[in-house]
Amino acid sequence: MKIIDKLNSDKITISLEVFPPKTSASYDKVLKAVDEIAALQPAFMSVTYGAGGGTSKNTVRIASHIKDDLHVDSLAHLTCASSTKEEVRSVIKELKENKIENILALRGDIPEEISFPSEDRFRYASELIQEIKKNGDFCIGAACYPEGHVENEHKEDDIRYLKEKVECGVDFLTTQMFFDNSIHYNFLYRIREKGITVPVLPGIMPVTNGKQMKRICQLSGTFLPARFLAIVDKFGNNPAAMQQAGIVYATDQIIDLIANGIHNIHIYSMNKPEVAAAILNNLSEIIKG
Ligand code: FAD
Repeated sequence: MKIIDKLNSDKITISLEVFPPKTSASYDKVLKAVDEIAALQPAFMSVTYGAGGGTSKNTVRIASHIKDDLHVDSLAHLTCASSTKEEVRSVIKELKENKIENILALRGDIPEEISFPSEDRFRYASELIQEIKKNGDFCIGAACYPEGHVENEHKEDDIRYLKEKVECGVDFLTTQMFFDNSIHYNFLYRIREKGITVPVLPGIMPVTNGKQMKRICQLSGTFLPARFLAIVDKFGNNPAAMQQAGIVYATDQIIDLIANGIHNIHIYSMNKPEVAAAILNNLSEIIKG
């Protein structure tokens, strides 16, 4: 099923994310987490895409397993900067052959060892989206950044390029993580004002390792509210307490989003079924029906 049909209904949807194993040795462990996350019956599950090699093959494999064996709709991520156009075309063909209908089209991070841009690679996600559209009837999602993409100095440029990207054929957007909902509301206001009307799924990251998250957020320019920093300072050295606090923080963000009329939510569940299950349990009455 195309994800957009679910997102356009009035029902609350919660989607969950998994990432493929980096080595074949950990494939079974990841598959177990995938199976447990699917058992929570999310609206769909997204499978991230790594740079090249086995990781990228595993995205198609896991997305097919989710759809065919676990009967949950799947969304396969696909990046283009780390592969040649020919390689990307062959993954699109594979997705089509596996009847995967939903793709999150991304540029990905630019590998240090290659010269970029180059003739044989798609430069922006928008070019990848045009290529996907030429090659099949897919539902296409793309990424957006409530705090601006780290490579852009001016937020207005970011929104201008986002609009161009959406106009290439994007059905929905998923945001980068944020920890202050007011940033998301402000972003929604600004993009709607510029005529971007597709559904936007807020991406909620349940933080289970506070110190690691602080480092990641410094790199991506994600604002960390004082309330979040106090939690990391207090519980950062106690993994069980940090996980519990991270689950409550994410739950709190989701309740606020739903209370403010947002009904499609994406959780970066990061192969952690126990975390996803705890959040869904906290929301059981709220997301009923
Ligand atoms: P683009 O939309 O191409 O944008 C990249 C930069 O170029 C931005 O600064 C944009 O403003 C600018 N730009 C766009 N068009 C133009 C133009 N015409 N002229 C000038 N500048 C322009 N990474 C992975 O490797 N695997 C994943 O599975 C993955 N999943 C993700 C899921 C989500 C929801 C998000 C938010 C990110 C994900 N990423 C993933 C990270 C993503 O690949 C990086 O953030 C990457 O740096 C940008 O990808 P993009 O698709 O947003 O790029």
